[in-house]
Amino acid sequence: MTKIQLNDAALEATQGGSELSAIWNDEKIFFRTSGRVIPEKRGEIFVAPLLSIAMYRGCDIQMPDDLPLSATFAENLSAVQDIMHRWNPALTHIKVHAKIQETKAHVQGALCNYSGGIDGSHSLNKYMDEISDILVINCFDDWKNQDHWPKTIAQKQKVADHFGKNLITVETNIRDVTHDAGVSWHLAHGAVITSFGTLFGHDMNIISSGYSYGHLEPDGSHSLMDPLWSTNRTEVIHSGAEVSRTEKTEAIASNPYLLNALQVCWKSSSHNCGACPKCVRTGIALYLLGMESPALPYDYAKIGLKILKPVEHAALVLLEDIVDLARRVGNSEVEKILLKYRKRYLVRHAFDEFIKAILPNWLGRKLRARQNWMKTDEKINYTPPNRFL
Ligand SMILES: [Zn+2]
Repeated sequence: MTKIQLNDAALEATQGGSELSAIWNDEKIFFRTSGRVIPEKRGEIFVAPLLSIAMYRGCDIQMPDDLPLSATFAENLSAVQDIMHRWNPALTHIKVHAKIQETKAHVQGALCNYSGGIDGSHSLNKYMDEISDILVINCFDDWKNQDHWPKTIAQKQKVADHFGKNLITVETNIRDVTHDAGVSWHLAHGAVITSFGTLFGHDMNIISSGYSYGHLEPDGSHSLMDPLWSTNRTEVIHSGAEVSRTEKTEAIASNPYLLNALQVCWKSSSHNCGACPKCVRTGIALYLLGMESPALPYDYAKIGLKILKPVEHAALVLLEDIVDLARRVGNSEVEKILLKYRKRYLVRHAFDEFIKAILPNWLGRKLRARQNWMKTDEKINYTPPNRFL
């Protein structure tokens, strides 16, 4: 199998910042940064997201000498691959050939990825004293709609100014590159955001957890995996897994500025629609806590809770978290509605599993082939093939 080989690495000054780029497969992968810090010409930011593609294809990665790796990062790649392979055996161990050289850049303080969501707001609140720089990247939620990007930057600049932090913005096509190669963003996003601290040389890179320790699932950003992306210069911290999502919301509510700056919507990165699952999940938590955010126009009486009916396990976990909160604050109406949704999902899921279990193997394989066909744009993910069919 041909190696994944990066060529023509370049670090160039742009208007208001810098661009780090390299060519792979005749395509330029770029990271355009703006802010007070200048990235170093290094390989970690390329290797981390390309690793899953290489593991899926079973080919090594060849880095040019001018994109070196930290010794710690390079040594940890074996442990990273152990975890990824265990989650999905279709991802096999490969080698990364690169020059070892430690980071020269140094930024005192911590970098924190913040898009205004519950997880990032909780990390910002928790590590307020340590954080020196807030990072905004253009590859989350409505990543295809770049019209919102200037508004997003303006909003985050206000938050950075309010708390006396520096804002670093990054425009990159790495999500397009991984998407085009068939990698699920669910798998790739952690590798991307954890590598920015190494690029700038911060003391710490704070990565906000999406799951609590009570509900750890295979995910691109994970408490097992994130610290392994550290370098000799930058320690990667996986933050917030010690609390649930509603407990994070409660903690954020103690900081009115962060509460008013909430940006959680699945449909937009510059405003909240008030009706998508993420908006409703956050809105109902605030409603149960007796709080409001002017940034989140959720109306319980009008919108209700129907959008929270779970269709997958991850949504069920988030729903159960809100049930716990409803119980804690004594709102039996919300508790009853959500328990009804939970029961329906569990019955339907058990029925589906029963049907799958009694199907003859040939029919099960046919159904799986159909499901895989429907997911052709995300063939590299953490869903292992069903080896029992
Ligand atoms: Zn929304």
